[in-house]
Amino acid sequence: MGGKDGRHRGPGLRSRGRRLGRPPVAETRWRTRPRPASARARTTGARPGSGRTARAPRARYATRGRRSPTGRPSRPSWYATPSRRSIGPPDAGSSTPTPPHGASRGSPSSSGSPPPTNRRPRHERRGRSPPPRGRRRRPGGATRHVRQERAILRRGARGGSRVRATIFHRPGQVSVEERATRQPAPGELRLRIAAAALCASDVRVYRGEKYALPGVVPGHELAGVVDAVGEGVDDYAAGDRVVICPIIACGRCRFCARGRRNRCASRRTLGYDLDGGFAEQMTVPRELLELGHVLRVPPSLPLEVAAIAEPVACTLNSLDLLGVRPGSSLAILGAGPMGLLHLLIGRASGAAPIVVSEPVAERREIARRWGADIVVDPESEDLEASVRAQTDGYGADAVAVSVGVARLATQALQIASRQGVVNLFAGFPPGATIPLDLNALHYAEIVLSGSQNATTEQYRRAVALLSALPQVSELITHRYGIEQAPEAYASRLQLSGLKSLVEFPGVDGR
Ligand SMILES: [Zn+2]
Ligand SMILES: [Zn+2]
Repeated sequence: MGGKDGRHRGPGLRSRGRRLGRPPVAETRWRTRPRPASARARTTGARPGSGRTARAPRARYATRGRRSPTGRPSRPSWYATPSRRSIGPPDAGSSTPTPPHGASRGSPSSSGSPPPTNRRPRHERRGRSPPPRGRRRRPGGATRHVRQERAILRRGARGGSRVRATIFHRPGQVSVEERATRQPAPGELRLRIAAAALCASDVRVYRGEKYALPGVVPGHELAGVVDAVGEGVDDYAAGDRVVICPIIACGRCRFCARGRRNRCASRRTLGYDLDGGFAEQMTVPRELLELGHVLRVPPSLPLEVAAIAEPVACTLNSLDLLGVRPGSSLAILGAGPMGLLHLLIGRASGAAPIVVSEPVAERREIARRWGADIVVDPESEDLEASVRAQTDGYGADAVAVSVGVARLATQALQIASRQGVVNLFAGFPPGATIPLDLNALHYAEIVLSGSQNATTEQYRRAVALLSALPQVSELITHRYGIEQAPEAYASRLQLSGLKSLVEFPGVDGR
């Protein structure tokens, strides 16, 4: 993990230790629900000065409205307020509304296991229809964090200024507006953005295929220079050049425990849930420093190239999952920016042969130049025949689908070798499906997987790798100033060129 390097540690590792010491999410959720005043007094009395009351809203935010790892709403439908837990049968839990942590460990109410079978869901007991599944958001759509942030800005800029920022309002509508900024709070950083790249997923948000908070500043592929540091931040100083792993993870769920913060059960991401990099300045939340998600950029690496660390990290995640090693045959479906990164890093990893399938001539040309062994136009050539010809008839060991077109998943399974791995790297339109010959997977022992974003360690490797991949800068084909940011979306919608960058000249003073 990135935290191995002490230089990258945020100031809050000590406080993070306290956070990690807190009970798991399910118990936190119970404890942060409203309780009788008498119970609150007991808790406070038991741990004077613990600060629990002050932390409670944040803990509740971290779990509120999130899906559980199984895809269900994080709050079970049989949820009852702690004061009602004594309603159940005698063995359902302690009669004390909120027993001290650990006292009722293993009881249904504190461990998160299903309720006694004689308890019907609350909506059934009240004769109502089931509550809606999925994210619950208040009218207006803002999360607690964003509402608090906006309230701070309304009260006054607190030593900040006004900057230009791109705002996502709703699918199909982004604009550039003036936004107030503020001095960083304790544990935070403020960045002057040097460059932020537009991602295919930003375009999916624009198309309404992926969720982002209305009013948020998009941009999760960003690099910048530290402009101001909050109280208690000792590891960073004004002028430091950094990139961000944009994931705020809880640090407690089982995915975080495995180092897979990109799959965190209550993950929030810059550019979707919190303000990102399409603005002159950005506040780096305290949690990102605590997680070690602020990474220094080597002096030799221009920040506009460092801004591509996120897609490079995502590609490393995909290639790791595909098990690409020297001599692995690799097929890449789609030579957009992400397909080309698979080619570049796959080649650097020793994959051979590499076959790229791409219908756009301009992109096929780049794939050839970047070292693909065979480049196929799928509209006029037989991809499967080409792959089999290159692999002694076996098919590809690894197949990456880097375009969100459902029928490519079918094609990927056809060109994969027995015991090959097919990774659905791209996101697909909601509800996309394919007919699947299950026995083709079963008898060929093909592994079909997906990957999204990357781990902290893969971000660290991405920053290190970028200096060795000078061709990456060729991916940036369109550059815009902040006032032209909406045009950056337009260029991606038209699929002209490869990557669009919103840049802020003069910020990267290396
Ligand atoms: Zn991205
Ligand atoms: Zn987590």
